[in-house]
Amino acid sequence: MAWKTLDQMDLNGKRVLTRVDINVPVEDGRVTDTTRIDRIVPTVQDILAAGGTPILIAHFGRPKGQVVPEMSLAITLPALEAAFGQPVKFTTLDDAADAIAFAKNQVVLIENIRFEPGEETNDPALAARLAELGDVYCNDAFSAAHRAHASTTGLAQLRPACAGRLMAAELGALEAALGDPKRPVVAVVGGAKVSTKLDLLGNLVGKVDHLVIGGGMANTFLAAQGHGVGTSLCEHDLADTARDILGKAADAGCEIILPTDVVVAREFAAGAANETVAATACPDDAMILDAGAESVAKIGEVFAAAKTVIWNGPLGAFEIEPFDKATNAAAQAAATLTKMGKLTSVAGGGDTVAALNQAGAADDFTYISTAGGAFLEWMEGKTLPGVAALGGK
Ligand code: AMP
Repeated sequence: MAWKTLDQMDLNGKRVLTRVDINVPVEDGRVTDTTRIDRIVPTVQDILAAGGTPILIAHFGRPKGQVVPEMSLAITLPALEAAFGQPVKFTTLDDAADAIAFAKNQVVLIENIRFEPGEETNDPALAARLAELGDVYCNDAFSAAHRAHASTTGLAQLRPACAGRLMAAELGALEAALGDPKRPVVAVVGGAKVSTKLDLLGNLVGKVDHLVIGGGMANTFLAAQGHGVGTSLCEHDLADTARDILGKAADAGCEIILPTDVVVAREFAAGAANETVAATACPDDAMILDAGAESVAKIGEVFAAAKTVIWNGPLGAFEIEPFDKATNAAAQAAATLTKMGKLTSVAGGGDTVAALNQAGAADDFTYISTAGGAFLEWMEGKTLPGVAALGGK
């Protein structure tokens, strides 16, 4: 690991500029899900315990360089104070120097950094202004690390920099899943479309031993192999691309696992009448909404022989019952093997967390990333600027 952790930094009496992700969901003026806040608690507590002053820098929503009062981070204060068990001093960037001067060993929160036009443009002047406010930089916002912004990269160059606890955990889990994994490695990629996951598939076929393709995107592959997919969600124009991916996988010795049986219905609706047919036999007037039991059994066998699973995207239209069955069953299989100590399982990205929660499997996975875009870009093999700025890859 090229990057430092909090343990390698002298924090005593230091002002620690700490980039966090507290971009939490809010309804009627209240935070409705504190997961992201809960996950930064170890970093904040450890800085305090080491005698430092955590100065939290974060974004909220997309104010695009303007002061938008509805996007003030003030809304997060009660939830932050509850999570840290102590008061949080809230300040605008303009008043931050004064606020910090009187906040020794207390938590300070600076107003939405995206109110500053220089944040998203990575303006060196904003980075320098932030650097003036602290002695040490700690990045605990893996989920913002795919953006080269002033508070994620520019600032990291100006002060001794380290990864926070959450950042270190995310990077450690990803490294274990894809960087230097125990083999065999299985990747599960599902979701709606191939077009949004081309880079992902392209990278994975060169790295994993088995690639399970599910969800709507499997239909594109089935169609590319010459099978009818009826009225299914399918990107017919990507048939050549799908065939390229299959060819690349064959060259790399990566086994592609497509559904061999599928659950089809005449309408995209909860409780729609459905039947299971061979993946080569989708009726013209039906759509594929889930993988069938035989496909799930095959996935279970591959999991059972594997040491590592990395997962992004559901295997079917999991929001509408009963088309959540394959996602649930495969997720539970991975969770059980993980619990038995046989598998390292890592999942992340958008809908995946919701799908695994719904399956009741999330708690038993080795690691669930709270990052969406950053998790995907990492799986795509891209360098994340926020990680590179810490001296990582
Ligand atoms: P993504 O955001 O790309 O991970 O896609 C997730 C979405 O794909 C979910 O809303 C699923 O309902 C949808 N999805 C998965 N399988 C299918 C399918 N066979 N037909 C239509 N939508 C699907």
